[in-house]
Amino acid sequence: MDLGITGKWALICGASKGLGFGCAQAMAAEGVNQVIVARTAGALEQAAAQLRAIPGAGQVIAVAADVTTAEGRAAALAAPGGPGRAFDILLNNAGGPPPGDYRDWQDADWLAALGANMLSPIALIRDLADGMAGRGFGRIVNVTSVTVKAPIANLGLSNGARSGLTGFVAGIARGPLARQGVTINNLLPGAFATDRLIATIANEAEGKGLAMPDLVERRQDGIPAGRLGTPEEFGAVFAFLCSRQAAYINGQNILCDGGAYPGTH
Ligand code: NAP
Repeated sequence: MDLGITGKWALICGASKGLGFGCAQAMAAEGVNQVIVARTAGALEQAAAQLRAIPGAGQVIAVAADVTTAEGRAAALAAPGGPGRAFDILLNNAGGPPPGDYRDWQDADWLAALGANMLSPIALIRDLADGMAGRGFGRIVNVTSVTVKAPIANLGLSNGARSGLTGFVAGIARGPLARQGVTINNLLPGAFATDRLIATIANEAEGKGLAMPDLVERRQDGIPAGRLGTPEEFGAVFAFLCSRQAAYINGQNILCDGGAYPGTH
């Protein structure tokens, strides 16, 4: 299927590894030009080289920056050779807040989580959505988590911050942007085989004195698909949400979790 987005410009945050890299790969395969952002320059350059090698890839501009800071976002929007603020596609994605016990979290912990996982995506939406609307096409996708629908006790910072973003998106996606060709959706990963998840499982294994393979197996047993997802699968869903064909999908929270979430809505 031709997704109709060849030659468009995408800003892909958190793009050097994991889910963000999966999304960048899908953009490259569609011939979309992209500015990719992550904090660690070396890993980002490696990712950029891999993306450029994908047949039919568009331009790939790497910006080593922290998208949770105003300076980092400004650097991405000012990338030499990039489109400035004239992006057609935005993937909001960064690391999640740490787990813990809510009794230990001070205001500073909450403000950091809200800044990274709620206010930063909102800032990029604010910076880019009007330009998309003016050009009559825009696709904004925010990586949140299955925990927005099924919160986990020790992920309170994530549950709270991502729910705030979800509420904001639910409103703005249904405002004037909806008649101007701009869609805003959230993509909710379940368990994907990324560095982050593997590190989380390794920590848990150490804490419980269990072998890592046993814990991975236990995790997979709880997923109807019987396995972890791959970043490529996640990227493919993202690419479809960015397509011309997905123009009528807006304001949604789309689970990609191998059937793990047990509810009907
Ligand atoms: P990952 O494998 O650790 O990759 C994260 C990517 O984002 C890296 O490229 C990282 O590079 C970049 N990044 C992190 N913080 C950044 C920042 N402040 N500014 C710019 N780039 C940043 O993580 P992942 O598993 O793909 O997870 C991505 C998001 O999905 C996270 O918010 C995570 O909580 C959420 N999620 C993941 C899963 C899962 O199963 N994997 C499940 C639910 C939710 P640098 O570190 O060099 O910046």
